[in-house]
Amino acid sequence: MLQQQEVHAAEMERTFIAIKPDGVQRGLIAEIISRFERKGFKLVAIKLIKPSKEFAQKHYHDLKERPFFNGLCDFLSSGPVLAMVWEGEGVVTYGRKLIGATDPQKSEPGTIRGDLAVVVGRNIIHGSDGPETAKDEVNLWFKPEELVSYTSNAEKWIYGVN
Ligand code: GDP
Ligand code: MG
Repeated sequence: MLQQQEVHAAEMERTFIAIKPDGVQRGLIAEIISRFERKGFKLVAIKLIKPSKEFAQKHYHDLKERPFFNGLCDFLSSGPVLAMVWEGEGVVTYGRKLIGATDPQKSEPGTIRGDLAVVVGRNIIHGSDGPETAKDEVNLWFKPEELVSYTSNAEKWIYGVN
């Protein structure tokens, strides 16, 4: 039988977050991870990977008609990307709030792109835009066995679950 906390974890929402090559090269990994961690979200998968251009095209398949698609895929495959899965209540929507608007010029101060990026083509981070996209992107970037289910000591303080 599952423990109560495991049931809680099994129901938790997950999202795919990636620090793009510009964020990695600029030394912003710790800064970005700390914002998700301090919020109370839980890291359940992480790896550094240099995606091929074909892989980048799969990841951004919904943008293939856009004029910037080719440059975007060249860029995503130009260096290491830090791929992650974060878990928590409302993590898909709130993860997007932490990230800020697509164009850093329109991102509020206090958001990752607002504080740390200047132009749309180098906006340092990706986050899934909805629950279905999140599932697809987690499955594209990670094998099931790379996702680690565990109870964090902080959970009962973050959620008030005993
Ligand atoms: P996101 O979900 O906020 O990342 O934005 P989109 O899914 O709309 O676009 C994916 C990525 O394509 C963005 O994060 C940008 O890096 C890039 N992008 C979007 N719009 C533009 C644009 O107008 N010009 C350029 N150069 N890149 C763009
Ligand atoms: Mg998007």
